[in-house]
Amino acid sequence: MTYDEPDLRRSVVETCQAMQRKGLVKGTSGNVSVRIDGGFLISPTGVPYETLEPGQVVRMRWDGTVKGCMTPSSEWRFHRDILKRRADLNAIVHTHSMHAAAVSVLGHEIPPIHYRIAAAGGPNIRCAGYAMFGTQELADLAVAAMEGRRACLLAHHGVIAAHSSLAGALNVAEVVEELATLYLLCLPMGKPPQLSADAIAKVIERHKTYGQQPHEEKAAPAGR
Ligand code: 13P
Ligand code: ZN
Repeated sequence: MTYDEPDLRRSVVETCQAMQRKGLVKGTSGNVSVRIDGGFLISPTGVPYETLEPGQVVRMRWDGTVKGCMTPSSEWRFHRDILKRRADLNAIVHTHSMHAAAVSVLGHEIPPIHYRIAAAGGPNIRCAGYAMFGTQELADLAVAAMEGRRACLLAHHGVIAAHSSLAGALNVAEVVEELATLYLLCLPMGKPPQLSADAIAKVIERHKTYGQQPHEEKAAPAGR
């Protein structure tokens, strides 16, 4: 694994601040982590994002011990347990974005009402049962709800979004909020129609080649 720790620390701070700028969190709610050798970097607990500095980001080992004097996010257990079990995920963003939190209050999963749910890795975004923030019980529920997915809701709480990079995890958190908003708009009209698991699997496949792809320099056509 090659990375530059000062760079990653800056990226954790930038992701926290972007999360706030995009309205996904208020105050000191939410937190961010990214994998490093032997553990992960995680935002400190209770530090306002406007004043957060790279040096305050906490380096944590897999055993939960930390280097330095800052106390890590109270949610370090679910960050640790998800990153430890899921080699496909390197970064986690936790938010309390308003519409997703509203769906979590209802205890509903987000069903496949829009093809963008594919960004969360499968045909639904599960809602983990309630447990108090910062507990091992919450971490265990979160790990189960994240099985085969890049996102889940936490009942009466918020969102966990993850990806191979911090930018990717932040993007998944935005998609979850977008889908939750759409779901809440549909709900008053009754149970919304859903896409099939097969349709979502096809979108996941199509996403592998969606957007600008790296391409080789083409030779200039003859005669020019
Ligand atoms: P921390 O400030 O400890 O990261 O907690 C915020 C939060 O969202 C708890 O769930
Ligand atoms: Zn929270």
